[in-house]
Amino acid sequence: MLSRKFPGGSLKFLAAKSPRNLRRHTAKVLLLDEIDGYEVGQEGDPIALAEMRTLTYRDRKIIAGSTPIFDFGPATRLFDKSDKRIFEVPCPSCDELSEIRWADIKWDEGKPETAHWVCPSNGCVIPENHKAEMVADGRWRATAPEVAGHAGFRINALVSPHFNARWGKLVAEFLEAKKSPETLQTFTNLVLGEPWKTETDDLDEHELFGRREPFGLKAIPAEVMFLTMGVDCQDDRLELVIMGHAKSDIYVLDHRVFYGPIDGESVWQDLDSLLRERWQHPGGGAIGIDSAAIDSGDGGHTDIVNAFTRTRFGRRVVSIKGLGGFSRPFLKRSGTKGQLLWLVGADAVKSQLFNRISRN
Ligand SMILES: [Zn+2]
Repeated sequence: MLSRKFPGGSLKFLAAKSPRNLRRHTAKVLLLDEIDGYEVGQEGDPIALAEMRTLTYRDRKIIAGSTPIFDFGPATRLFDKSDKRIFEVPCPSCDELSEIRWADIKWDEGKPETAHWVCPSNGCVIPENHKAEMVADGRWRATAPEVAGHAGFRINALVSPHFNARWGKLVAEFLEAKKSPETLQTFTNLVLGEPWKTETDDLDEHELFGRREPFGLKAIPAEVMFLTMGVDCQDDRLELVIMGHAKSDIYVLDHRVFYGPIDGESVWQDLDSLLRERWQHPGGGAIGIDSAAIDSGDGGHTDIVNAFTRTRFGRRVVSIKGLGGFSRPFLKRSGTKGQLLWLVGADAVKSQLFNRISRN
């Protein structure tokens, strides 16, 4: 199933989930499918690791494709670096070439079956029965022709000849999908072939840096009601963040690194004493860390982390594990019996975090 030899070559299928597998292979032609679904793990970015396997070939070819999921995802990034080809069709009325975009599909309110295309050049009204001939006469145009050696193509379902992709049907699907952000995102990704936009396009690190405010554990904002801690585990250290939660805001109050081998005692003793520490609250009295989440997901640290959290469960110190995919809940207890593990919908959390940063 996973490997075929034929005269002049061979074909291998590998799962991007275990990039470790990639090391044993080299390939002249590399095809990567659904790259926005790849997860960057402990071993690194599966796309970069796969590309490394083609290095020895002068005449290598790398083809990556995906439904774009997020606007900062690999599919969008690769397309933005390419010569950015779009598929244009001639307007049957004025003959101008344009890409069929969703914004130019119009319909009478409540009547998806009236869907038609309005040619962006001259406003010609084009009913769907012209689609087949328009698409047959269509052609690819590079919008960044100065880029050499990296072709990129984008296309959406509006040019699809399939019966179930007729404009009226897609409009009906859209009217249903826009009832919730999740279904609208699916429609945007799968039908329009566009990444879901979080409003962070112009957020850059310098701007973010400039927006810092002087608070911390020694100056806890008065509106903070409780503190939580998140811990990331690496072979040689623990990295942790302490956050203060107010009614609507979350403050990053501290970031610390405890160096030492993760299978040694000292980093865990340091962590335990920090978990017992208390800080002055401007409202009077002192507060400590109410709850802590420790990543047990990667790098074979699971047992060590669980040994620490198991005996501190009563103090709300828990093991977590991040999972990709937008449809996951932020936090959900693992279904496995006897396991004190919480699963974190990492992509969903990140996208909400980005939304928060851009909104404030
Ligand atoms: Zn026209």
